[in-house]
Amino acid sequence: MSLFGQIRVSGLVDMHVHFREPGFVYKESILSGSTAAMRAGYSDVFTMPNVNPTPDSLDNLSVQSSIISRDSHIGVHPYASITLGQKGEGELVNIEQLAPHVAGFSDDGRGIQDEGLMREAMQRIAAAGSMIVEHCEVNDLLRGGYIHDGLYAHAHGHRGICSESEWREVERNIRLSEETGCRLHLCHMSTKESVQLIREAKARGVKVTAETAPHYLLLNEGMLQEDGNWKMNPPIRSVADQMALLAGVQDGTIDVIATDHAPHSAEEKSRGLEKSAFGIVGIETAFPLLYTYLVKTGLLMMDRLIELMSTRAREIMGLPMDESWATFDLDAHYTIDPEQFASKGHSTPFAGWEVWGKCIKNEYKGTVVYEAE
Ligand SMILES: [Zn+2]
Repeated sequence: MSLFGQIRVSGLVDMHVHFREPGFVYKESILSGSTAAMRAGYSDVFTMPNVNPTPDSLDNLSVQSSIISRDSHIGVHPYASITLGQKGEGELVNIEQLAPHVAGFSDDGRGIQDEGLMREAMQRIAAAGSMIVEHCEVNDLLRGGYIHDGLYAHAHGHRGICSESEWREVERNIRLSEETGCRLHLCHMSTKESVQLIREAKARGVKVTAETAPHYLLLNEGMLQEDGNWKMNPPIRSVADQMALLAGVQDGTIDVIATDHAPHSAEEKSRGLEKSAFGIVGIETAFPLLYTYLVKTGLLMMDRLIELMSTRAREIMGLPMDESWATFDLDAHYTIDPEQFASKGHSTPFAGWEVWGKCIKNEYKGTVVYEAE
Protein backbone atom coordinates (compact mmCIF):
# COMPACT_ATOMS: atom_id res chain seq x y z
CA MET A 1 0.00 0.00 0.00
CA SER A 2 1.40 3.37 -1.05
CA LEU A 3 2.30 5.94 1.56
CA PHE A 4 1.65 8.84 -0.81
CA GLY A 5 -1.16 10.07 -3.02
CA GLN A 6 -4.68 8.82 -2.51
CA ILE A 7 -5.73 5.55 -0.91
CA ARG A 8 -9.16 3.98 -0.74
CA VAL A 9 -9.56 1.80 2.33
CA SER A 10 -12.31 -0.03 4.16
CA GLY A 11 -14.50 2.56 5.93
CA LEU A 12 -13.15 3.28 9.41
CA VAL A 13 -14.90 1.83 12.46
CA ASP A 14 -14.86 3.35 15.94
CA MET A 15 -15.94 0.96 18.68
CA HIS A 16 -16.09 3.67 21.36
CA VAL A 17 -17.72 7.09 20.99
CA HIS A 18 -19.95 9.34 23.10
CA PHE A 19 -22.48 11.18 20.96
CA ARG A 20 -24.36 12.54 24.02
CA GLU A 21 -27.88 12.37 22.57
CA PRO A 22 -30.48 12.04 23.95
CA GLY A 23 -29.87 14.21 26.97
CA PHE A 24 -26.74 16.29 26.47
CA VAL A 25 -26.97 17.86 23.03
CA TYR A 26 -25.09 20.94 24.20
CA LYS A 27 -22.01 18.65 24.23
CA GLU A 28 -22.73 16.72 21.00
CA SER A 29 -25.72 15.39 19.05
CA ILE A 30 -26.19 12.37 16.84
CA LEU A 31 -26.14 14.82 13.92
CA SER A 32 -22.94 16.65 14.89
CA GLY A 33 -21.13 13.49 16.05
CA SER A 34 -22.03 11.41 13.02
CA THR A 35 -21.19 14.31 10.69
CA ALA A 36 -17.76 14.57 12.33
CA ALA A 37 -17.27 10.81 11.92
CA MET A 38 -18.49 10.82 8.32
CA ARG A 39 -16.12 13.64 7.32
CA ALA A 40 -13.26 11.79 9.00
CA GLY A 41 -13.78 8.58 6.99
CA TYR A 42 -15.79 6.51 9.46
CA SER A 43 -18.59 4.31 8.20
CA ASP A 44 -19.60 2.78 11.53
CA VAL A 45 -19.36 3.93 15.12
CA PHE A 46 -20.55 2.39 18.39
CA THR A 47 -22.09 4.71 20.98
CA MET A 48 -21.72 4.41 24.73
CA PRO A 49 -24.90 4.46 26.83
CA ASN A 50 -24.20 7.38 29.20
CA VAL A 51 -27.02 9.43 27.72
CA ASN A 52 -30.44 10.33 29.11
CA PRO A 53 -32.56 8.26 29.00
CA THR A 54 -30.00 5.48 29.31
CA PRO A 55 -30.60 2.75 26.73
CA ASP A 56 -31.38 0.22 29.46
CA SER A 57 -34.78 -0.89 28.11
CA LEU A 58 -36.32 -1.29 24.66
CA ASP A 59 -38.38 1.87 25.19
CA ASN A 60 -35.37 3.98 26.13
CA LEU A 61 -33.31 2.46 23.33
CA SER A 62 -35.98 3.41 20.82
CA VAL A 63 -35.61 7.09 21.82
CA GLN A 64 -31.98 6.95 20.70
CA SER A 65 -32.59 4.71 17.67
CA SER A 66 -35.21 7.03 16.20
CA ILE A 67 -32.83 10.02 16.42
CA ILE A 68 -30.13 7.91 14.75
CA SER A 69 -32.37 6.90 11.85
CA ARG A 70 -33.44 10.53 11.40
CA ASP A 71 -30.02 12.23 11.65
CA SER A 72 -27.15 9.90 10.70
CA HIS A 73 -25.84 9.10 7.23
CA ILE A 74 -23.45 6.43 8.52
CA GLY A 75 -23.90 3.42 10.80
CA VAL A 76 -24.38 4.50 14.43
CA HIS A 77 -24.77 1.43 16.64
CA PRO A 78 -25.78 1.86 20.30
CA TYR A 79 -24.55 -0.27 23.16
CA ALA A 80 -27.06 -0.91 25.93
CA SER A 81 -26.00 -0.39 29.51
CA ILE A 82 -25.25 -3.44 31.66
CA THR A 83 -27.06 -2.11 34.72
CA LEU A 84 -30.27 -0.11 35.01
CA GLY A 85 -29.36 3.59 34.77
CA GLN A 86 -25.75 2.60 33.89
CA LYS A 87 -24.81 2.83 37.55
CA GLY A 88 -22.16 0.10 37.61
CA GLU A 89 -24.19 -1.55 40.39
CA GLY A 90 -27.72 -2.49 41.35
CA GLU A 91 -29.89 -4.36 38.89
CA LEU A 92 -28.95 -5.78 35.49
CA VAL A 93 -30.91 -4.69 32.42
CA ASN A 94 -33.14 -7.18 30.60
CA ILE A 95 -30.21 -8.62 28.70
CA GLU A 96 -32.18 -11.31 26.84
CA GLN A 97 -34.69 -8.77 25.54
CA LEU A 98 -32.13 -6.12 24.54
CA ALA A 99 -29.40 -8.35 23.06
CA PRO A 100 -30.85 -8.73 19.54
CA HIS A 101 -31.23 -4.94 19.23
CA VAL A 102 -27.86 -3.64 20.45
CA ALA A 103 -24.18 -4.01 19.56
CA GLY A 104 -23.28 -5.20 23.06
CA PHE A 105 -23.46 -4.14 26.69
CA SER A 106 -21.33 -1.52 28.45
CA ASP A 107 -21.38 0.61 31.59
CA ASP A 108 -18.53 2.72 30.14
CA GLY A 109 -17.37 5.33 32.61
CA ARG A 110 -18.07 2.98 35.49
CA GLY A 111 -16.45 -0.36 36.26
CA ILE A 112 -18.74 -2.97 37.79
CA GLN A 113 -17.20 -3.44 41.21
CA ASP A 114 -19.23 -6.41 42.43
CA GLU A 115 -17.77 -9.67 41.12
CA GLY A 116 -21.02 -11.58 41.56
CA LEU A 117 -22.96 -9.03 39.52
CA MET A 118 -20.30 -9.05 36.79
CA ARG A 119 -20.34 -12.88 36.67
CA GLU A 120 -24.12 -12.93 36.30
CA ALA A 121 -23.96 -10.26 33.59
CA MET A 122 -21.35 -12.24 31.68
CA GLN A 123 -23.25 -15.53 32.01
CA ARG A 124 -26.43 -13.96 30.66
CA ILE A 125 -24.69 -11.95 27.93
CA ALA A 126 -22.84 -15.10 26.78
CA ALA A 127 -26.11 -17.08 26.72
CA ALA A 128 -27.74 -14.28 24.71
CA GLY A 129 -24.90 -14.46 22.16
CA SER A 130 -23.80 -10.87 22.77
CA MET A 131 -20.65 -9.27 24.17
CA ILE A 132 -19.57 -7.12 27.09
CA VAL A 133 -17.57 -3.95 26.41
CA GLU A 134 -16.05 -3.00 29.70
CA HIS A 135 -14.58 0.08 31.34
CA CYS A 136 -12.11 -1.39 33.85
CA GLU A 137 -11.66 0.59 37.02
CA VAL A 138 -11.45 -0.31 40.71
CA ASN A 139 -13.18 2.55 42.53
CA ASP A 140 -11.38 1.92 45.83
CA LEU A 141 -8.05 2.68 44.15
CA LEU A 142 -9.04 6.03 42.62
CA ARG A 143 -8.54 8.18 45.73
CA GLY A 144 -9.77 11.35 44.06
CA GLY A 145 -7.16 11.18 41.31
CA TYR A 146 -7.55 12.91 37.94
CA ILE A 147 -4.23 12.45 36.10
CA HIS A 148 -1.75 9.54 36.06
CA ASP A 149 -0.20 8.76 39.42
CA GLY A 150 3.35 9.31 38.20
CA LEU A 151 6.20 11.77 37.79
CA TYR A 152 4.13 14.74 36.65
CA ALA A 153 1.48 14.38 39.36
CA HIS A 154 4.15 14.09 42.06
CA ALA A 155 6.16 17.05 40.75
CA HIS A 156 3.14 19.35 40.46
CA GLY A 157 1.10 18.36 43.50
CA HIS A 158 -1.76 16.62 41.69
CA ARG A 159 -3.70 13.59 42.89
CA GLY A 160 -2.98 10.59 40.68
CA ILE A 161 -4.96 7.65 39.30
CA CYS A 162 -2.76 4.57 39.75
CA SER A 163 -2.26 2.00 36.99
CA GLU A 164 -3.46 -0.73 39.32
CA SER A 165 -6.98 0.75 39.30
CA GLU A 166 -7.17 -0.35 35.65
CA TRP A 167 -5.22 -3.59 35.50
CA ARG A 168 -6.74 -5.14 38.65
CA GLU A 169 -10.13 -5.03 37.00
CA VAL A 170 -8.72 -6.15 33.63
CA GLU A 171 -7.32 -9.17 35.46
CA ARG A 172 -10.65 -9.95 37.14
CA ASN A 173 -12.70 -9.48 33.99
CA ILE A 174 -10.39 -11.74 31.97
CA ARG A 175 -10.79 -14.38 34.69
CA LEU A 176 -14.59 -14.05 34.59
CA SER A 177 -14.60 -14.17 30.79
CA GLU A 178 -12.56 -17.38 30.96
CA GLU A 179 -14.97 -18.82 33.51
CA THR A 180 -18.20 -17.86 31.74
CA GLY A 181 -17.13 -18.00 28.09
CA CYS A 182 -18.46 -14.46 27.59
CA ARG A 183 -16.90 -12.39 24.81
CA LEU A 184 -15.11 -9.53 26.54
CA HIS A 185 -13.92 -6.34 24.87
CA LEU A 186 -11.74 -4.13 27.05
CA CYS A 187 -12.15 -0.38 26.59
CA HIS A 188 -9.38 2.22 26.31
CA MET A 189 -6.40 0.24 27.63
CA SER A 190 -3.75 2.57 29.05
CA THR A 191 -1.26 0.57 31.15
CA LYS A 192 1.63 -1.76 30.40
CA GLU A 193 0.30 -4.29 32.94
CA SER A 194 -3.03 -4.48 31.08
CA VAL A 195 -1.20 -5.15 27.79
CA GLN A 196 0.70 -8.05 29.38
CA LEU A 197 -2.46 -9.52 30.97
CA ILE A 198 -4.24 -9.44 27.59
CA ARG A 199 -1.23 -10.97 25.83
CA GLU A 200 -1.20 -13.86 28.30
CA ALA A 201 -4.98 -14.31 28.15
CA LYS A 202 -4.93 -14.51 24.36
CA ALA A 203 -2.15 -17.09 24.53
CA ARG A 204 -4.46 -19.21 26.74
CA GLY A 205 -7.30 -18.81 24.23
CA VAL A 206 -9.56 -16.49 26.23
CA LYS A 207 -12.19 -14.71 24.07
CA VAL A 208 -10.86 -11.26 24.86
CA THR A 209 -10.31 -8.28 22.57
CA ALA A 210 -8.97 -4.86 23.47
CA GLU A 211 -8.78 -1.28 22.31
CA THR A 212 -6.56 1.66 23.02
CA ALA A 213 -6.87 5.25 21.78
CA PRO A 214 -4.56 7.58 19.81
CA HIS A 215 -3.75 9.72 22.86
CA TYR A 216 -2.33 6.76 24.78
CA LEU A 217 -0.09 5.90 21.81
CA LEU A 218 1.13 9.41 21.02
CA LEU A 219 1.28 11.15 24.41
CA ASN A 220 2.84 10.53 27.80
CA GLU A 221 2.82 12.29 31.18
CA GLY A 222 6.03 14.15 30.29
CA MET A 223 3.98 16.19 27.81
CA LEU A 224 1.15 17.11 30.22
CA GLN A 225 0.07 20.73 30.52
CA GLU A 226 -1.95 22.54 33.19
CA ASP A 227 -4.99 22.52 30.96
CA GLY A 228 -8.28 20.59 30.83
CA ASN A 229 -7.49 19.53 27.26
CA TRP A 230 -5.10 17.01 28.80
CA LYS A 231 -7.68 15.38 31.07
CA MET A 232 -9.42 12.12 30.26
CA ASN A 233 -10.10 8.80 31.99
CA PRO A 234 -8.01 6.69 31.94
CA PRO A 235 -5.29 9.34 32.04
CA ILE A 236 -2.26 9.79 29.79
CA ARG A 237 0.34 7.61 31.48
CA SER A 238 4.12 7.08 31.50
CA VAL A 239 6.55 6.57 28.62
CA ALA A 240 6.81 2.88 29.62
CA ASP A 241 3.04 2.49 29.27
CA GLN A 242 3.06 4.31 25.93
CA MET A 243 5.82 2.01 24.63
CA ALA A 244 4.02 -1.14 25.86
CA LEU A 245 0.80 -0.05 24.13
CA LEU A 246 2.71 0.60 20.92
CA ALA A 247 4.24 -2.89 21.14
CA GLY A 248 0.70 -4.18 21.77
CA VAL A 249 -0.70 -2.62 18.60
CA GLN A 250 2.31 -3.83 16.64
CA ASP A 251 2.05 -7.47 17.75
CA GLY A 252 -1.77 -7.76 17.74
CA THR A 253 -2.31 -7.88 21.51
CA ILE A 254 -4.36 -4.70 21.10
CA ASP A 255 -7.01 -5.37 18.43
CA VAL A 256 -8.38 -1.95 17.63
CA ILE A 257 -7.76 1.75 18.02
CA ALA A 258 -10.95 3.49 19.11
CA THR A 259 -11.13 7.19 19.91
CA ASP A 260 -13.23 7.40 23.10
CA HIS A 261 -14.50 10.61 21.45
CA ALA A 262 -16.00 12.36 24.49
CA PRO A 263 -17.08 15.95 23.79
CA HIS A 264 -17.87 18.48 26.50
CA SER A 265 -18.64 22.21 26.38
CA ALA A 266 -15.75 24.70 26.34
CA GLU A 267 -16.70 25.79 29.86
CA GLU A 268 -16.62 22.21 31.19
CA LYS A 269 -13.08 21.83 29.85
CA SER A 270 -11.83 25.25 30.98
CA ARG A 271 -11.33 24.45 34.67
CA GLY A 272 -7.78 23.07 34.60
CA LEU A 273 -6.60 19.52 35.28
CA GLU A 274 -8.31 19.10 38.62
CA LYS A 275 -11.76 20.53 37.90
CA SER A 276 -12.41 20.01 34.17
CA ALA A 277 -14.68 17.20 32.95
CA PHE A 278 -12.94 13.96 31.90
CA GLY A 279 -12.80 13.41 28.13
CA ILE A 280 -11.46 14.77 24.84
CA VAL A 281 -12.67 14.66 21.25
CA GLY A 282 -10.81 12.44 18.81
CA ILE A 283 -12.79 11.25 15.86
CA GLU A 284 -11.62 13.98 13.47
CA THR A 285 -7.95 13.66 14.35
CA ALA A 286 -7.41 9.90 14.78
CA PHE A 287 -6.48 8.92 11.24
CA PRO A 288 -4.23 11.90 10.40
CA LEU A 289 -2.43 11.65 13.75
CA LEU A 290 -1.81 7.92 13.53
CA TYR A 291 -0.84 8.06 9.87
CA THR A 292 1.56 10.95 10.50
CA TYR A 293 3.14 9.83 13.75
CA LEU A 294 3.04 6.01 13.48
CA VAL A 295 2.96 5.14 9.77
CA LYS A 296 5.06 7.92 8.25
CA THR A 297 7.62 7.42 11.01
CA GLY A 298 7.88 3.71 10.25
CA LEU A 299 6.50 2.46 13.57
CA LEU A 300 3.43 0.83 11.97
CA MET A 301 2.63 -0.44 8.47
CA MET A 302 -0.32 1.21 6.72
CA ASP A 303 -2.02 -2.18 6.35
CA ARG A 304 -1.79 -2.72 10.09
CA LEU A 305 -3.24 0.74 10.78
CA ILE A 306 -6.27 -0.10 8.61
CA GLU A 307 -6.72 -3.38 10.51
CA LEU A 308 -6.61 -1.43 13.80
CA MET A 309 -8.99 1.29 12.61
CA SER A 310 -11.40 -0.77 10.52
CA THR A 311 -11.18 -4.42 9.56
CA ARG A 312 -10.48 -5.96 12.96
CA ALA A 313 -13.41 -4.06 14.47
CA ARG A 314 -15.55 -5.33 11.56
CA GLU A 315 -14.63 -8.88 12.51
CA ILE A 316 -15.34 -8.30 16.20
CA MET A 317 -18.67 -6.57 15.59
CA GLY A 318 -19.79 -8.72 12.66
CA LEU A 319 -19.88 -5.91 10.08
CA PRO A 320 -19.45 -6.79 6.37
CA MET A 321 -15.95 -6.23 4.97
CA ASP A 322 -16.57 -4.84 1.49
CA GLU A 323 -19.52 -2.51 1.87
CA SER A 324 -18.12 0.92 2.81
CA TRP A 325 -15.00 2.83 1.80
CA ALA A 326 -13.04 5.90 2.76
CA THR A 327 -10.62 7.71 0.45
CA PHE A 328 -7.78 9.68 2.00
CA ASP A 329 -5.47 12.21 0.42
CA LEU A 330 -2.19 11.35 2.12
CA ASP A 331 -0.47 14.44 0.76
CA ALA A 332 -2.93 16.85 2.42
CA HIS A 333 -0.77 18.65 4.98
CA TYR A 334 -2.28 20.90 7.64
CA THR A 335 -2.32 21.93 11.27
CA ILE A 336 -5.01 20.60 13.60
CA ASP A 337 -7.44 23.42 14.31
CA PRO A 338 -10.34 22.52 16.64
CA GLU A 339 -12.36 25.44 15.22
CA GLN A 340 -12.63 23.42 11.99
CA PHE A 341 -14.22 20.39 13.69
CA ALA A 342 -17.77 19.36 12.82
CA SER A 343 -18.01 18.05 16.39
CA LYS A 344 -19.44 20.43 18.98
CA GLY A 345 -16.51 19.44 21.22
CA HIS A 346 -13.23 21.27 20.64
CA SER A 347 -11.15 19.95 23.50
CA THR A 348 -8.05 18.13 22.28
CA PRO A 349 -4.42 18.07 23.37
CA PHE A 350 -3.48 17.83 19.68
CA ALA A 351 -4.45 21.39 18.66
CA GLY A 352 -1.59 22.86 16.65
CA TRP A 353 -0.08 19.49 15.72
CA GLU A 354 1.06 19.23 12.11
CA VAL A 355 -0.46 16.27 10.26
CA TRP A 356 -0.77 14.64 6.87
CA GLY A 357 -3.83 12.78 5.58
CA LYS A 358 -7.39 13.97 5.05
CA CYS A 359 -10.56 12.09 4.17
CA ILE A 360 -11.78 13.32 0.79
CA LYS A 361 -14.59 10.83 0.14
CA ASN A 362 -16.79 8.59 2.26
CA GLU A 363 -18.83 5.85 0.57
CA TYR A 364 -21.30 4.26 2.95
CA LYS A 365 -23.00 1.09 1.68
CA GLY A 366 -22.63 2.14 -1.95
CA THR A 367 -23.68 5.79 -1.48
CA VAL A 368 -21.25 8.72 -1.45
CA VAL A 369 -22.25 10.42 1.81
CA TYR A 370 -19.36 12.87 1.91
CA GLU A 371 -17.03 14.36 -0.66
CA ALA A 372 -14.57 17.18 0.10
CA GLU A 373 -14.93 20.31 -2.02
ZN1 LIG B 1 -15.74 6.26 26.95
